[in-house]
Amino acid sequence: MVELSGVRKTYGDVTALRDAELVIRRGELLAVVGPSGSGKSTMLNIMGTLDRPTAGTVRIDGHDIDHLSDRELSALRAGTIGFVFQQFHLAPGIPALDSVADGLLYSGRPRAERRSLAERALRRVGLGHRLHHEPHQLSGGEKQRVAIARAVLGDPPLLLADEPTGALDSRSGLVVMELLHELHRAGTTVVVITHDRDIAASLPREVRIRDGWIEHDSDGAGPALAA
Ligand code: ADP
Ligand code: ADP
Repeated sequence: MVELSGVRKTYGDVTALRDAELVIRRGELLAVVGPSGSGKSTMLNIMGTLDRPTAGTVRIDGHDIDHLSDRELSALRAGTIGFVFQQFHLAPGIPALDSVADGLLYSGRPRAERRSLAERALRRVGLGHRLHHEPHQLSGGEKQRVAIARAVLGDPPLLLADEPTGALDSRSGLVVMELLHELHRAGTTVVVITHDRDIAASLPREVRIRDGWIEHDSDGAGPALAA
């Protein structure tokens, strides 16, 4: 689903990611864990095709992104990747159903269909009773579930979650993690970026990153030493 090969990213004289080698197979659920500043967001931005690497090869769903124009890359992203962030990014005053349905605004689907898909997605995350609630009427955990419903609306095969429980109390955090497990069981490839070691250890695969290096990958290969 995702293949990083020799991926480096520099910002001026800061090297945020060094020679990253990572293969994520379809249907995996894994954590990318590391302290603040270790390069997690940089890796997520690159896996999410929001950013191009300074060097190295990135393949998403078999496509070498180096061979795609920005427009082709946007289309690949729109059809393939859902994003969830620590801050829920829900517009104030907009009911959950509309927030989610707006994710399909540019899909060419008629309004009624957008709304019925949005309702289905909200039911899927356990918010069938919150369709018309606005963000200020929802708990943090519910807001994150709305954001997840929006992210999975078009059934993307890949879900990238950046500190999805970072703004939640531990109980809501568990509900959100359980939901990510459910999406994984339903076939979605899920990558969770976190600085929380307990969350990372609770997932089937753990990729540890430090100072821009992948220092450990529980997927058998051990430390990703450059060949
Ligand atoms: P994390 O998500 O693990 O906190 P980041 O990927 O955000 O780490 O950052 C890794 C390193 O790259 C840090 O030293 C950070 O300051 C630097 N960095 C990240 N994004 C930028 C940017 N846009 N411009 C300059 N430096 C950046
Ligand atoms: P996180 O909370 O995920 O670790 P950060 O707070 O490090 O993320 O960064 C938030 C955003 O700011 C990211 O998109 C990152 O690329 C960018 N960023 C991080 N460090 C810098 C920096 N030194 N200069 C410019 N942008 C940065």
